[in-house]
Amino acid sequence: MAGTILTTEPRVTTGKQRSVLIIYTGGTIGMRHGPRGYVPEPGLLAWTIRSHPAFQDPTMPPGFTPASRHGQRIRYEIKEYDPLLDSSNMGMHDWVQIARDIERHYDEHDAFIVLHGTDTMAYTASALSFMLENLDKTVIITGAQIPVSEVRNDGVDNLLDALILAGHYDIPEVGLYFRSRLYRGNRTRKTDADGLSAFSSANFPALARVGIDIDVRWEHVLAPTGERLRVVPITCSNVAVLRLFPGFPQHVLENFLAPPLQGVVLETFGSGNAPDNRPEFLAALRRASDRGVVIVNTTQCDRGHVEAQYSGGAALLDAGVVGGADMTTEAALTKLAFLFSSDRAPEEVRRLVGRDLRGELTGREPRRRFSFREKAFVRSVAETLSTSDPDGRAAIAGALYPVLMCSAARLGDLAGLRRIIDGGADPNAGDYDRRTALHLAAAEGHVELVDYLLSVGASPDTRDRWDHTPLDDALRGGHARVIARLRGAAGTDADA
Ligand code: ASP
Repeated sequence: MAGTILTTEPRVTTGKQRSVLIIYTGGTIGMRHGPRGYVPEPGLLAWTIRSHPAFQDPTMPPGFTPASRHGQRIRYEIKEYDPLLDSSNMGMHDWVQIARDIERHYDEHDAFIVLHGTDTMAYTASALSFMLENLDKTVIITGAQIPVSEVRNDGVDNLLDALILAGHYDIPEVGLYFRSRLYRGNRTRKTDADGLSAFSSANFPALARVGIDIDVRWEHVLAPTGERLRVVPITCSNVAVLRLFPGFPQHVLENFLAPPLQGVVLETFGSGNAPDNRPEFLAALRRASDRGVVIVNTTQCDRGHVEAQYSGGAALLDAGVVGGADMTTEAALTKLAFLFSSDRAPEEVRRLVGRDLRGELTGREPRRRFSFREKAFVRSVAETLSTSDPDGRAAIAGALYPVLMCSAARLGDLAGLRRIIDGGADPNAGDYDRRTALHLAAAEGHVELVDYLLSVGASPDTRDRWDHTPLDDALRGGHARVIARLRGAAGTDADA
C-alpha cells in the first residue's frame, strides 16, 4: 500500500473512509483516580471519547469521526482488554496477545492503534516491531501521562492525533506517538516520568511531526516488503539486562550469567567500554559466550553508538560480546528474545542481533545516495558506458537516467537535465521511489525546470511510491509559481 494522503494539502478523498482498530490494553489514558491512586476503569475511555465531538459525528452511528475538511471520515472500533493493565504488570505474553489481535483483524482494518501504559510502552513497541514481520499497515502505539477523565489531559490529543495519522497515512511500521511526534517504536525510550513529552528517540529522527500541518518524513519511513504479514511470537524469556557500574561484584556477574540465561544486554560505559583490568570479569563473559549466551553491548548514554575505540571495548569483543551499534536497551532485549524464540543457534543469533532487521539500528557508515555531482560516481558511469557493448550501454543508461535526471532536477541544473533528455532519456522515468524529475524540480521550486519538463512531455499526474504528485511536493514547499504551473497543467485527479 502506498501513502494515501499527505502533508499540507491532503488530496480530497470525499466518500472515502478508513477503518482503524483501537486495541485498548490499559494504561493511564483510561484510568480514574481512586483512593489508592490511578486505576484502569473498564468502559471509561470508550465512553469519554465517544462523547467528544472530535471523535464522534452526532449524525452517525457510534465509532465515526466527523468528516474532515477534505471529506475523509475515520471509522474506528475499540477492542478493550479485560482486565485492563497498568503496563508495569505486562509480560511477554501480553506482547504476543497484541500481535495476535493485529493479525486476527488485519484484513478488516486499514490501520491499528494500541493504547498502552507509558511505563513499558517502548518495550512493547520494540517487541511488536520484531514480531510483525512484513507489516504493510500503520500500527501506532500511544497513551497518556494524564487520563482523559481529567479536564487537563494529554490523552485526548495523543489519541486523536494517532487516529488522524492512522486514518490518513500508510506508514508501514510500528510507530510510537506522543506529544506531536510519531517515532519509530523500536528507537524510543521513556525518558521523562513527569513531562508530557515522555518519549525520545535520540538516535533516529521522528517519522512525523504534527503541528499546524502534519509532516510525514517519508524519507525515514521503511518500505513494505510486499509479503504477507506473519506474526513470529516471542516465547523466549531467558534474556536480561545488566547495567555495569564501577566495581561491579564478580559473584553477582557469575550468578547472573548462569543457565538458563540465553541473551544479555550489557549496558556499558560511553562508547561501549568495560574494565579491561579485571581478567576474571572478562573470563566470566568469555565462558558464558562459549556456553552459547549471546551478550550484546549497548551504551548507557542516551545517544550514540557502541564501538571498540578503547581497549576496554576491544576486550569485550575478545570476550565474544557483540556490538549493539545504537540500539536502545529495549530494542536489544526484545530482539534477543525474538531471535531466540525461533530456535536459532547462538551463532545465528549473534550474527543477526547486530544487523538491522526493522530499522532498529544504524550501521556505522551512513547510507549514501548517489549524487549527480559526485565526481567519482560520474567518472565511473562514464567509464562503464564507454567500455560496454551497445546493448549493455542502453541497459545501464536506462537504469541510471532516472537517478541522474532526479539529481539534476533537484540541483536546478537545467543544462544537465536537457543533456540527459536530449540523449534519449524518458522525462517520465522515475527513480527507485518512482519519483520523477518533475517531482524533484517541483519540490525545490525550480520554475524554469518545471516549465522545461512540462514542455518535453513530463506528466504532472505521475505519482511516487507514497502516492504524491509533483503538485503535492510543490504545495508542501509552498512554491506558489510552481503550484500555479502545475495546477494549470494537471489532469483531474491531481487537483488538490
Ligand atoms: N503506570 C502507567 C502504565 O504504564 C503509566 C502510564 O500509563 O502512563 O500503565
